[in-house]
Amino acid sequence: MPGTELFGAEERKEINDVLETGILFRYGHDQQRRGIWKAREFEEEVKKFTSAKYAHTVSNGSAAIAIAMAASGIGAGDEVIVPPFTYIASVEAVLFIGAIPIFAEIDETLCLSAEGIKKVLTPKTKGICLVHMCGGTADMDGIMELVKEHNLTLVEDAGQAFGASYKGTSVGLFGTAGSFSFDFFKIATAGEGGAIITNSEETYKKIDSYSDHGHDHVGTNRGMEQHPVLGFNYRISELHAAVGLAQTRKVPHIREVNRKYKKMLTDILSKTEGISFATLTDPAGDSATFLNLLLPDTEAAQRTVDELNKAGVGGFNYWYSNMYHFINQWDHVKNMATVSKLPAEVLGIPQDYNDLQLPKSQEVIGRLISFGVRCTWTEEEVKSLANNISNAVKAASAVAAI
Ligand SMILES: *Cc1c(COP(=O)(O)O)cnc(C)c1O
Repeated sequence: MPGTELFGAEERKEINDVLETGILFRYGHDQQRRGIWKAREFEEEVKKFTSAKYAHTVSNGSAAIAIAMAASGIGAGDEVIVPPFTYIASVEAVLFIGAIPIFAEIDETLCLSAEGIKKVLTPKTKGICLVHMCGGTADMDGIMELVKEHNLTLVEDAGQAFGASYKGTSVGLFGTAGSFSFDFFKIATAGEGGAIITNSEETYKKIDSYSDHGHDHVGTNRGMEQHPVLGFNYRISELHAAVGLAQTRKVPHIREVNRKYKKMLTDILSKTEGISFATLTDPAGDSATFLNLLLPDTEAAQRTVDELNKAGVGGFNYWYSNMYHFINQWDHVKNMATVSKLPAEVLGIPQDYNDLQLPKSQEVIGRLISFGVRCTWTEEEVKSLANNISNAVKAASAVAAI
């Protein structure tokens, strides 16, 4: 949780600005707010950092990906390709905007692969919800080629990839729109918050209106504003925006330190037999929030997890058995356990979620152990962690040899 590691005076200052005026709402009240516009400033900061032409902040990252897809024209009955390894929010967002998730294979990038996408493409495919996982980026050259060739709508869920870029372009800017999360577990937090970026003015206007009941935000009389479209309330509050603003300013520093520590860990661990790493499609653009280890096979990874637990080494995720990140534990998706009927259930789902063949994804996630990189570590702590990981991997392979 790098963002929350550095929480202090800067966040309190921004929050206090809002508390001084009492205007917790992001729109209007021009007199009383005395020039304090935190959501706007947060958006300017996101724009500056990503070089996006437009940014809009909202209540959370789940809303942000749903809004990004809706504003890109994805809706009822549209088939959207999704990964089986993501945070469940991406799949829920596709379902809740009325579209139909189609699962495709990921690869060692931990993201959907061009090859995986190609295999499930049909004339009915509308688009891709591409998720940049564990701080890195997908193979954008390969995927963009497919997007252009098949005229697909690309939307990026960069929920956990703020600060990542591919060949100089920030994630979120390859498709029509892209989303970020600023929840409590991301590189920067707003407590709860999300952002959508785009280079298209037309898409931005849809995002802006859709996330606030259709308001066009023209003029100074909120009750008399035009409503070109229907929307809903996905607004961020000024208090959350204040925290997100202070945190976002810290991301360049957090990323720099994370990169240094991730490189130290990688250099040490690459000498241990049996350890390899997830593929970084652009090492220079890695946000370095996670060190992603690949063990030789699922059994070796599970034995390593046991050894890490035995040695009391924390701070890692074994996603293969995680309830919210990998499809193996998604019985609620497979059985469409919903509180009320979704369009996908009414229209029919072409894929049998209970009989998905995703051997590559199973293999990669079975082998993956991800360590959260912390910007508040000391170099001693980094070396000690590398040593502990190395010992756990060696102990695991010794167990296997018996
Ligand atoms: C965190 C995350 C989300 C959801 O963000 P919230 O702000 O928690 O709603 C969506 N997608 C991905 C890939 C995430 O990691």
